Amino acid sequence: MEDCIFCKIIDGKIPAAKIYEDNKVFSFLDIMPANKGHCLVVPRRHSVTLIEMSEDDLVATVKAAKKIASALSLSFGNGSFNIVMNNGKEAGQLVNHAHIHIIPRFQKDRLRIKWSHVKYDDNEIKEYAEKIRKFI
Ligand code: AMP
Ligand code: ZN
Repeated sequence: MEDCIFCKIIDGKIPAAKIYEDNKVFSFLDIMPANKGHCLVVPRRHSVTLIEMSEDDLVATVKAAKKIASALSLSFGNGSFNIVMNNGKEAGQLVNHAHIHIIPRFQKDRLRIKWSHVKYDDNEIKEYAEKIRKFI
């Protein structure tokens, strides 16, 4: 992918603070972190969202995320972290190469991951479950 910034990082064409790599996965520090130590884990093979990723890439990426979360906790963290994956424009995905964020959390940090709630009308929850089940 010629214009993909994460493909360029993986290919060594632009610099990044590398954390980990193997034959399927590459991981580096986010340049505009939500907290210091905020890591990104990306599959080497370009896919845009989780849905496009092959199962092999997905397994490798999630395994690497666990390894990195553990290293964060053992180095300067405290065992608290958020895993975030933005998929698609409406979900806030800015870089169109699938990636998992691992964000270490600290007491009194400024990161807020909270959402407001909406309500289902009567029976609507069952209708939504049915709609989704049909495609599984
Ligand atoms: P998202 O909104 O999930 O697509 O997040 C993309 C993330 O990539 C943002 O948190 C950016 O700070 C990060 N980012 C963009 N360019 C770079 C770069 N060159 N090196 C490291 N992180 C980057
Ligand atoms: Zn890419």
